[in-house]
Amino acid sequence: MVMRGGFGEPYCSQECYDNGGKYASAVMLKNQTGVCGFCQKPVQASMYGASTCAIVPYEGVNLFICNSCSAKGKAYLRDYRKCCKCQKSV
Ligand SMILES: [Zn+2]
Ligand SMILES: [Zn+2]
Repeated sequence: MVMRGGFGEPYCSQECYDNGGKYASAVMLKNQTGVCGFCQKPVQASMYGASTCAIVPYEGVNLFICNSCSAKGKAYLRDYRKCCKCQKSV
């Protein structure tokens, strides 16, 4: 059974889905900075402040998706065929 997160990213199980969500929240809480995985624009993750991106766990790294690339990110993740947390095929 495939479960999908807020960006349409696939998870193979409830456990991976929960872990993926926890992981993304932890990154947001730490106000991490990074670059958008689609356009390389610098982004700032934030749970309560002015966040300029979303975070998706992806192949063991944080995939930052800036606000202007969210449609592109969703389209990409919809076609991704592996669990975003454990890389199992889904
Ligand atoms: Zn971007
Ligand atoms: Zn999984």
